[in-house]
Amino acid sequence: GVAYVNGDFVPLSEAKVSVLDRGFLFGDGIYEVAAVLGGRLIDNEAHLARLERSLKEAALATPVPFAEIPKLQRELIARNALAEGLVYLQVTRGAAPRDFAFPKDAAPTLVMFVQEKNLLCSPAAEAGVAVKTVPDLRWARRDIKSVSLLAQVFAKQEAAAGGCQEAWMTDPAGMVTEGASSSAFIVTKADKIVTRPNSREILPGCTRKAVAALAERCSLEVEERAFSVAEALAAEEAFITSATAFVLPVVSIDGVKIGAGVPGERTRRLREIYIEFALATAE
Ligand code: PLP
Repeated sequence: GVAYVNGDFVPLSEAKVSVLDRGFLFGDGIYEVAAVLGGRLIDNEAHLARLERSLKEAALATPVPFAEIPKLQRELIARNALAEGLVYLQVTRGAAPRDFAFPKDAAPTLVMFVQEKNLLCSPAAEAGVAVKTVPDLRWARRDIKSVSLLAQVFAKQEAAAGGCQEAWMTDPAGMVTEGASSSAFIVTKADKIVTRPNSREILPGCTRKAVAALAERCSLEVEERAFSVAEALAAEEAFITSATAFVLPVVSIDGVKIGAGVPGERTRRLREIYIEFALATAE
């Protein structure tokens, strides 16, 4: 594959950054992931808007004008002849002698690569995913899409060790914040989909936002509030959303079946509607 590193398109195997890069030393960087279907970017406007926000909140700048980024994403997709998968993009504060405060004259690092992945036909969409709950060990600015992901690495590892595909992280009150790499939802008896409101406690999911806007078409009402693990265990359906997972049914939490323990009807419908939206707006 071909990667982009600070102005150059290079073979992925030769793509390198300095060991002094602050992304490597401090996790001092932010990232973004957008899905690709049929060689086109899905909901990229939302991802660019969040990227711009993350950059601003982290006092970072891109080494190229921001408006060039979608062109670079598209060129990378073309050079890789990527049909289905994702584009990963990362901006760090660059390479500088190791010192915590912002360096005076380091140039930011911009790196992009693609990953091929089956998004439309995924076994997880058919079978659903098993979720494990774990304490949310992250910091107080989870709204920034930071590359400091050790807490999510721990959460995913704990989930994987327990035979689960996703971790739902919980706050000290036992309320679910979100998935380790996804937004968390439950569906209640009253045809409501419940998800935690955006705040500094969660990442504002682009897919979460799109799904919330599409819910009406499935006669589902969105209720933005925190929900507990206990409420999730008793919910009729549960699901997760992310750029590359789209909408995935959750069929068990901590080994307890959700509903009948199979993907729920409303979740299936939301996945279909999201995919229709994705294909119709891909660019
Ligand atoms: N929450 C976290 C912590 C994530 O890492 C992600 C994405 O990977 C999401 C939510 C979902 O966000 P999006 O739908 O924009 O991919």
